[in-house]
Amino acid sequence: MGHKSLNSQTKAQATHEQVSKQNKQKVVPPKSKLWHLAASLLLFQGVMLGTPLQAQEASQKTLSYGQLLQKVDADEVSKVEIDPTTRIAKVRLKGSKSNDQPQEVLLLEQNSELIEKLRNKEVELDVESTADNSAVLGLVANLFLLLLLMAGLMMILRRSSSSSGQALNFGKSKARFQMEAKTGVLFDDVAGIEEAKEELQEVVTFLKQPERFTAIGAKIPKGVLLIGPPGTGKTLLAKAIAGEAGVPFFSISGSEFVEMFVGVGASRVRDLFKKAKENAPCLIFIDEIDAVGRQRGAGIGGGNDEREQTLNQLLTEMDGFEGNTGIIIIAATNRPDVLDSALLRPGRFDRQVMVDAPDLKGRLGILEVHARNKKIAPEVSLEAIARRTPGFTGADLANLLNEAAILTARRRKDAITMLEINDAVDRVVAGMEGTPLVDSKSKRLIAYHEVGHAVIGTLLPQHDPVQKVTLIPRGQARGLTWFTPDEEQGLVSRSQLLARITAALGGRAAEEEIFGDAEVTTGASGDLQQITGLARQMVTRFGMSDLGPLSLESQGQDVFVGGGLMSSRSEYSEEISAKIDAQVQTIVEHCHIQARQLIRHNRIVIDKLVDLLIDKETIEGDELRQIMEEQNQLKTDNLVASS
Ligand code: ADP
Ligand code: ZN
Ligand code: MG
Repeated sequence: MGHKSLNSQTKAQATHEQVSKQNKQKVVPPKSKLWHLAASLLLFQGVMLGTPLQAQEASQKTLSYGQLLQKVDADEVSKVEIDPTTRIAKVRLKGSKSNDQPQEVLLLEQNSELIEKLRNKEVELDVESTADNSAVLGLVANLFLLLLLMAGLMMILRRSSSSSGQALNFGKSKARFQMEAKTGVLFDDVAGIEEAKEELQEVVTFLKQPERFTAIGAKIPKGVLLIGPPGTGKTLLAKAIAGEAGVPFFSISGSEFVEMFVGVGASRVRDLFKKAKENAPCLIFIDEIDAVGRQRGAGIGGGNDEREQTLNQLLTEMDGFEGNTGIIIIAATNRPDVLDSALLRPGRFDRQVMVDAPDLKGRLGILEVHARNKKIAPEVSLEAIARRTPGFTGADLANLLNEAAILTARRRKDAITMLEINDAVDRVVAGMEGTPLVDSKSKRLIAYHEVGHAVIGTLLPQHDPVQKVTLIPRGQARGLTWFTPDEEQGLVSRSQLLARITAALGGRAAEEEIFGDAEVTTGASGDLQQITGLARQMVTRFGMSDLGPLSLESQGQDVFVGGGLMSSRSEYSEEISAKIDAQVQTIVEHCHIQARQLIRHNRIVIDKLVDLLIDKETIEGDELRQIMEEQNQLKTDNLVASS
C-alpha cells in the first residue's frame, strides 16, 4: 500500500472488439447476401452452406402446413406458388388484395397430399424455382478465398524480393535522417533549464554571425553534448537553437545508425554530413548518441564491428570539416559515462551542457509555457502544481497538462480546474484509479495501515506534511498516503531520513498493533523495499551509521556499462558486507520500535481517523491535522483535570 509519490506506471488497457454473431434465424434478403459472403469467408465458408433458409421472418404472415390444408379444404385459397429449392410455398388467400404479402408455408419433402387437394379444388398452382443461391454463393466464396490466398502469397513474395534487393544496395542507404528547414521552436518555448539556455545562446550566435568569431581568429566549436535524463527537453533545446538561428535542422537517432549490415551506419554518417555541408549553415542533432558512441572494445559480449565503424566514421567526419563551415553538431545522451573518450576530446564534443530535471521555479516556467495554448480556469495556481510535482521533467509536465485537458473535455467543462489537474497528477504518479473496496475487514486493515503512515508522518516534525490519505486504490496500491515535499529537497538530513523510514514503517506497525502479529499482510512489501533501500543508502552512501563516513557503493551500478564490470564488484570486504547488513538492520529496527510506540500512544485518534476514512474514503491533510490537534488538546485537558 503506497506510501510515497512513486514514479508513474501506466498500464495499457486491452480493448476487446465485439464480434457480432450472425443471426441464423433470418431469411436472407438479397442485400445481406454480400455480408453473408464475407461472414462465410471468415468462418472458412462452412456456415453459408450449412445455413438452411427455412425459417421465416417474424413480421411475415405464416401458415402451418396443417392450416394450409384446412384452408384449401375450406376453399379459401386462390393461388399457391411453390419453390422447390427453398421448400416454401407462397399462398394467396381469396379476398386478399393483390399488393398484400402472400402467406408463406414451409412444405414437407413430399407434398402429394397438398398437390392432390389443390388439383381437386382447382387452385392455381405455380412451381417457381429460384436458382440455387446457396450453392452459387459457396462457389463464389471458395473462389474468393483462393484469390485472397494468392494475393497474400504474392505480397509476401514481393516483400522478400524487395528486401533482398535492399541487401544488394545497402551502401546507398535510405536517408534515415530528418531535415526540417524551420523548426518553429524558439527559446521562449523552452523553460526551466536556464543555465543550459544561456550556454547555448552562444551557439546561436556562432550559427548566425560566424564572422564575429572568425575575424579575431577564434575557432568555432563543432560539437555540443547535451547530457540529461529523458524528457528534460534536450531535443526541444536543439530545435530551439536551430529555430533561433534560422538554420535547417538535421536530426537522426543514434540507434538508426546501427544496422545488421556492417558499413551501413558508416555510410549513413557520410550521407548525413554530405547533405549537411550542402545546406550549411545548419545544425545536426544526433539523439541518443550512446547507441553508437559507446566505449569501443568494451562491454559484455565483445566489440561490435558495425558500431565501431560507425563511430570511427563519425569521428572522421567531425575532424574532416573545419570549424568554420557553419555546421554545428549537437548530440544528446543520458549516459555520458559510457561514451567513448575519443568523442569527448577537444575538437569534437568538447562542450558539455547539463540538462537536468527542473527545480520548482523551472517547473513553474515549463507549466507556463504549456498552459499558453490551453484553457485554464483563472483560479488555478500553476505554482501549486509546480509544488506538487517534484521530480517531474518537462515532458512529464507537458503530459500532465494534457491529461488534465483530456479529463476536462471528458467532464464537459469549459476550462481546466484544479480538480482535473490534481486528478491528473495522482494518475501520472500512482496510476489509474480503481473502484473502492466495500466495507470489510480488509478495508479496515488498509485504513489502519494508511492512517498509520499519515499519523506518524504528522507526528514527526522532520517529516513532510501529509497531503491526503485515501482508500481509493490506484495502480498497484490499495490505499495511498500522499505527502507534500516541503521544499526542493537538495540536501536531506539524517533525522529526515529516519523520519521517512519511521513513517514508511507506520503502515506495518499499525497492522501489528491493531490486528496482532498473526494478521499482518503482504500490503507493506512496497514500503519495506523502500525502507530497506533508504537504510542501506544511509550506511553505504551517506556515511550515516556507526560504520563511519565511508562511501561503499555508488549510485546506479550497471553491469552493462562498458568496462565497469570487473571493477565495480567488490569495493568492500566480506567482513564489511556483514557489518553493512547489521547496520541496516539496526536502523530499521530502531525505527520500527519507534513507529509501534507512536501507534500505541495515539490509538484513540487513529481509531477515530480510521472510522472517518472508511466513511469518507479520503481525508485531506488539513482535516487530518485538525483532528489530531483537537485530540491532543483533549488529552492535555484531561491530564490537567485529573491531576
Ligand atoms: P528529451 O529529448 O530530453 O528526452 P524532449 O525535448 O523530447 O526531451 O521533450 C519532450 C517534450 O516535453 C517536449 O516536446 C516539450 O513539449 C516538453 N518539454 C520537455 N522539456 C521542456 C522544457 N524545458 N520546457 C518546455 N517544454 C519541455
Ligand atoms: Zn504502506
Ligand atoms: Mg529526445
